[in-house]
Formats: sequence, C-alpha cells, structure tokens
Amino acid sequence: MPSKRKSIAKTKPTPKKARGRVRSRRLKAAEPALLYERLQTLYPDAHCELDFTTPFQLLVATILSAQCTDKRVNMVTPVLFKRYPSVESLARAKQEDVEEIIKSTGFFRNKAKAIIAMAGAVADTHRGDVPSTLEALVTLPGVGRKTANVILGNAFNVNEGVVVDTHVGRLATRLGLTRETDPVKVEQELMRLFPRDKWTMLAHLLIFHGRRVCDAKKPRCGECTLADVCPSASLGLASRA
Ligand code: SF4
Repeated sequence: MPSKRKSIAKTKPTPKKARGRVRSRRLKAAEPALLYERLQTLYPDAHCELDFTTPFQLLVATILSAQCTDKRVNMVTPVLFKRYPSVESLARAKQEDVEEIIKSTGFFRNKAKAIIAMAGAVADTHRGDVPSTLEALVTLPGVGRKTANVILGNAFNVNEGVVVDTHVGRLATRLGLTRETDPVKVEQELMRLFPRDKWTMLAHLLIFHGRRVCDAKKPRCGECTLADVCPSASLGLASRA
C-alpha cells in the first residue's frame, strides 16, 4: 500500500513550489552564452532594420519608430529626408508640413514636434552633429535612454547599453533572463549577463527572434532553436490549443 500512495503522489500536478525548482533548473541550462550563440547562428546578419545613412537620419527614424513598424518608418523617411535634407532644414520646418509626411507612423503630432525640436537642439547646441555620448543624447527632445542606445550602438558602434524594446523585454522574460518589468532594470540585468561587446548585437538578435519566431501572441515554440533551454517553451503549445 505505501508504494501505491507513492505512485499516486507522483501523478499529482506539480505543486507551485516544485514548478519553481524545475523552472530554475531549466533556467540554469539556458546560459546566456548559449542563447547568444544559437541566435547568432540563426541570424548571422541581424542588424538594425531602420534605414539610415547618417546618425541624424537614424535619430529621426528611431523617434518615428515608437509604436510603429520599422517597415512603415522606412516608407516615410525617404520622403522626409528628401524634403528636409539637413539638420537645419528640419529644424526650420513647419510642424504641419512634417505632420503631413509622417502621419502614417501614428502619434504624428508629438513625433513632428519632437523631431523638429530635436533638430533645433542638434543645430544650436551641437553645431549640427548628433552627439556621441549617452549623457548628451538624452538631453535632446524626444530622446530617452532606449533611443540613445540605438544611436550609440548602430551609428557610432558604441556599446553603452542594451536596447530594451517590446521584443527584447518579452524575450528576456520568456527566456528567464529577468523577472523585472521596468525596461531600465531589464537592461541592467542583460548588461550583467552578457559581455559589453555583445550588447548592441544582443538586442538585434532578440528583436529578430521576437519578430520571426517568438511572437507576442503566438510564439512558435515548436520550431524554435531555443525550445530545449527555454523555460517558457510550453507557451507555444498553449497558444495553439
Ligand atoms: S521556446 Fe517559445 S517562448 Fe521560448 S524563445 Fe522560443 S518561441 Fe519564445
């Protein structure tokens, strides 16, 4: 009889506490270096998907990309940069004219105001050159830490931090790399887990994977290269149910 009780106990659903232990063991398997290596193998050409030729263009495109797809931004920026080819010309632009061009990116009034003010600050305070330090970048209108990290990593090849957008935040959580929800704290955790020279590429890899496989609503865990080490691999199965 005791052996029967034992066997029943074995078939009980895993208690919460025990599930936590299983989760921890799996988390331990998902070493940051392994995750990075697998994603890099899968996306050897991962890169910033916003089109730009100068730091200023990337700054404008990044501000426009808030709550908007990179694809949409890439349709709008050629028109914008043709009409306003320099920092100074955008700084002098009429708000309603800029709004008209960027309308399809959403939140166009705020974005038009931000890019005109940002261009004015770059022209007046930095002689038309986008600054290459985090401290100076975050003083520009419409530029926060995330945008500054995008510019530093992609226009200046400076690994100052990790860009934590919606994809990076979601994947960091699903992969068990963080339990934080505040992007700044998530960034700090990622900076602690990955070597500095990987920070810019790490964000690209997570964004590529988030867009192509680890979808917010329907993660495709069945075809994911990280499924065997991801503590959230059952999400994909649940979403198919
Ligand atoms: S296994 Fe699923 S949840 Fe984990 S990274 Fe892959 S797609 Fe995302």
